[in-house]
Amino acid sequence: MAQVTGPFFAEGAVDTPYWWDAAEPRAAPSTALPASSEVVIVGAGFTGLNAALTLAKAGKQVTVLDAEAPGWGASSRNGGMLGPGWATFDTAMAYGPEKARAIVGESFLALQHVKDVVEREAIACDLAVVGYFRGAMTPRLYEAMGRQLDRIRKVMPCDAYLVPRAEQHGEIGTDLYHGGLAIPGYAGLHPARYVAGLAEAAHRAGAQLFGGARVTAIAPDAGGFTVSVGRQRIAAKQLLVATNGYTGSLLPFLQRRIIPIRSALIATAPLPPEVMDRLMPKRRMLAGSQRVVTYYRPSPDGTRVLFGGRVLKVNGENVARANAGHLRKQMLQVFPELERTPLTHYWHGQTGFTFDKLPHLGEREGIFYACGYNGTGIARASWFGHKIAQRMLGSVEKPSAYEDLPFRSRPLYYGKPWFLPLAVQFYEMLDRWEQR
Ligand SMILES: Cc1cc2nc3c(=O)[nH]c(=O)nc-3n(C[C@H](O)[C@H](O)[C@H](O)COP(=O)(O)OP(=O)(O)OC[C@H]3O[C@@H](n4cnc5c(N)ncnc54)[C@H](O)[C@@H]3O)c2cc1C
Repeated sequence: MAQVTGPFFAEGAVDTPYWWDAAEPRAAPSTALPASSEVVIVGAGFTGLNAALTLAKAGKQVTVLDAEAPGWGASSRNGGMLGPGWATFDTAMAYGPEKARAIVGESFLALQHVKDVVEREAIACDLAVVGYFRGAMTPRLYEAMGRQLDRIRKVMPCDAYLVPRAEQHGEIGTDLYHGGLAIPGYAGLHPARYVAGLAEAAHRAGAQLFGGARVTAIAPDAGGFTVSVGRQRIAAKQLLVATNGYTGSLLPFLQRRIIPIRSALIATAPLPPEVMDRLMPKRRMLAGSQRVVTYYRPSPDGTRVLFGGRVLKVNGENVARANAGHLRKQMLQVFPELERTPLTHYWHGQTGFTFDKLPHLGEREGIFYACGYNGTGIARASWFGHKIAQRMLGSVEKPSAYEDLPFRSRPLYYGKPWFLPLAVQFYEMLDRWEQR
């Protein structure tokens, strides 16, 4: 953790997730790695830990390895917003109405899966169904939201609804938007507490978890795979790679298909209850309709605004100050009255995007994978972890609707998204053009 300074930071502000104040990911006390394991899982986020839980409960000997600490990746850094996947509807329609129904329908199963795991494992993570509101930046975008609802309703029932500008203050205390879209089934949770609870549950079920265990090589052998952690070797019968936005060169197949994109958040200092009541009257999960997305919410205790979006700077000097300043500017567009409220936290993490904007799970040359949640991975990663584990168990349960989707790369893409700055600039230009 490092302190961050700047005109808009509070005294003692830090560059670690607000969530880590309550649940900082920690590596389990180190014990020796096993020489063999029925299953090895690389990556201990929502994907890897949900898989570990399902596999361990089915009686498998499971070893989970994380380069840092269990939960250290996107899973303890995200916005904590999870809900039905209406946003994937148009993308899924490329495969026809039946597939779109199956894919969107599966998002409800994913959400229910998280609720079930949280309840069954008694994970105290502030999970609450509070609903969601996405504000339209222009009247045309508001109309486009209505047209999307019409398209969805031709294919399947949908309980999302439009909120006109005149009624917007019931959802959010801003005049920035021209009305918006409300989704009642959306939920919020404390992601770091959720992932810590998953790690404990997987451990209780018998899985062995290791932090500081970066997998450096994977080699097939007669009995399955040899997994190298530096000089140490683990013989594994089955292997799951669950590294998503932190996927490196370990598995070139995935590296060529995952686009790592950084996203960041800021947290404000605590605000008076009457201000929070005015800004976020329903304590909803919130977002703007820009292509370069902004997402925000109250902290689970209802005292702070947590605001997320894209980063300006990836490395170099003053990354935290530059990115926090950019996010703060966007937050002030929504809530100008926060001008004098200092920030206490800035942090970022890596998301895993895909070229077809859909997540994928499957098996390649005997190695299982689940990844590519395109920035919406709390429910999907949890569900995919569970589903890929079922597949590894040879379970006869219904396969995921995503399992037969082609998972493609693009020519000249080898894991470094050189096109990203240009793409972001282009989308921001379109956003500005629409809002002119
Ligand atoms: C800032 C931010 C905000 C987000 N907001 C939301 C949100 O509000 N709602 C939502 O649904 N989703 C959100 N997401 C996305 C969501 O957090 C991710 O999709 C999800 O956490 C992915 O989980 P995972 O387990 O697949 O990957 P991760 O949690 O990223 O875990 C991957 C792990 O792999 C480990 N690893 C990598 N390489 C190796 C190796 N060689 N050996 C061992 N370990 C390795 C890493 O250390 C890491 O811990 C957000 C993401 C970010 C970054």
